[in-house]
Amino acid sequence: MAVCEECKWFFALEDDPTIGDCVTRVVDPRCAYWTAKPVESTDDACGNFQEKS
Ligand code: SF4
Repeated sequence: MAVCEECKWFFALEDDPTIGDCVTRVVDPRCAYWTAKPVESTDDACGNFQEKS
């Protein structure tokens, strides 16, 4: 099973790479924006997982 660490949307914190931000682009009818939520590198990948290239 893939984990967040392998996902292109995972951005590890510099001082603690076991934690990072999951950055997601949200598009709603009026605007599109980026949002970030804290995740752990070993969290199970979600449906938005995309392998790092
Ligand atoms: S929560 Fe999903 S989109 Fe975010 S880093 Fe993990 S696998 Fe990627």
